[in-house]
Amino acid sequence: MDRFKDLLERLHTASDLERASAVLGWDQMTYMPAAGNAARGEQLATLAALWHREFTDPATGDLLQALEDDYQGRPQDDPQRALVRVTRRAYDKQTKLPQDLVAEMQRASAAAYEAWVAAREERRFALFAPAFRRLMQLSRESAEAIGYEQEPYDVLVDADEPGLTAERAAQLLEALKDGILPLVRQIAERTGRIDRSMLHQDYPYEAQWQAGIDAVTAFGFDFARGRQDVSIHPFTTSFGVDDVRITTNIDVQGFPGGFYSTLHEAGHGMYEQGLPAEWARTPLGQAISGGVHESQSRMWENLVGRSRAFWEYFLPTAKRYFPSQLAGVDVDAIYRAVNYSAPSLIRVDADEVTYNLHIAVRFEIERALLAGSLEPEDVPEAWSEKMRTYLGIVPPDDLSGALQDIHWTGGFGSFIGYSVGNVVSAQLWQGASRDLGDLDEMIRAGAFSPLLGWLRTNVHAVGSTHSTDEMLRRATGSPLTAQPYIDYIQKKYRAIYGL
Ligand code: ZN
Repeated sequence: MDRFKDLLERLHTASDLERASAVLGWDQMTYMPAAGNAARGEQLATLAALWHREFTDPATGDLLQALEDDYQGRPQDDPQRALVRVTRRAYDKQTKLPQDLVAEMQRASAAAYEAWVAAREERRFALFAPAFRRLMQLSRESAEAIGYEQEPYDVLVDADEPGLTAERAAQLLEALKDGILPLVRQIAERTGRIDRSMLHQDYPYEAQWQAGIDAVTAFGFDFARGRQDVSIHPFTTSFGVDDVRITTNIDVQGFPGGFYSTLHEAGHGMYEQGLPAEWARTPLGQAISGGVHESQSRMWENLVGRSRAFWEYFLPTAKRYFPSQLAGVDVDAIYRAVNYSAPSLIRVDADEVTYNLHIAVRFEIERALLAGSLEPEDVPEAWSEKMRTYLGIVPPDDLSGALQDIHWTGGFGSFIGYSVGNVVSAQLWQGASRDLGDLDEMIRAGAFSPLLGWLRTNVHAVGSTHSTDEMLRRATGSPLTAQPYIDYIQKKYRAIYGL
């Protein structure tokens, strides 16, 4: 019997169940009538249970064990050995958690969501705190069940960012704070220098839709193997490398929101379209981590889409779609407008300069909660304190403070991926510039395929054969490091704000 083929068959079945769930989930967020919610919930729960049964079958564990012995002498990046390694990781995570703890987490999460909605209405975190405490206790229990070396929070960070520890993530954020905080203060004194009123007026829906499609088609999002639809919160999902779905959300009273969410999601989408087809339907054919995924969306949204070179290329197109709105607007004016920076209360609206400070607030609070040095009831106070220190502003109530993100109704550890994404995007830009030459010159000419080709080879086609650090080492020469991002921000924003 061919053990490897046997393993592949099992993984293919599990993956098909996952992708079927993704189709149902996509439909739920785009076209399903609201009344369909209850039935859809049942269907998704059934598929999730079938997936879990399939994926955690003890026979799979036996196969993994045998294949680990068979492949011992092979190099680490041998694809078959790599597949066994990433499957083992996922298998252990799924089997080490007792099923009743998983079910309890799901119940606690549903209760936390309801409490969060109610607390938001009253704008009081205190109403959310008891459900939040329960979720925190269960997260700690699951960390104990899986096991860790330094602190329980390690397990939660590692779940989304394999190989990253809480301590290393904290160091990354410290470096970002050191490198960016003084700049935030200087910019805050000069926000009046930028006029962005041209972006906030009536922008017709259809023209916005087409402008976004034009931009991401030029980037290389393949509409023969994907499509864009509309949802309240934009997202990307994949049913396979040849069927990748992105969504956007257009506000007719302003240009930047819908346009940049299209660019962002297309970045995610091109990653999914570039994953190795030969490892489709297996864990090896998936993204390395949430943070690396975010690096691809940030790359196209910010490093490309908010560059001066991009606007030199795209402004004539934008003016065709919005002749009156952009009349008299030159490249410099729109470049400055789309890069307006100011301390703000809401993370999802934050700009490139201040974004990571919002992540630091959440990460530090989570880490203290998991370590037991902060109680859930004291979160709003800690939140205000950190916002004052990092951004110089304090939320007037908990709705624009600790209740703003939905993430805390589902658990902990996922925020750091956003900062990893920012940092990785700048590292990859540096690596691509070294290999390809002047990227701005290419972008100015509308030539995006060299950059996409480089990302295809160095990031997308890797699947999850390498860790984040190893992928970065091969592509750029260094493991995860904050310096390229700090340099990028410093250079760009000092020029924009004349500092
Ligand atoms: Zn994203």
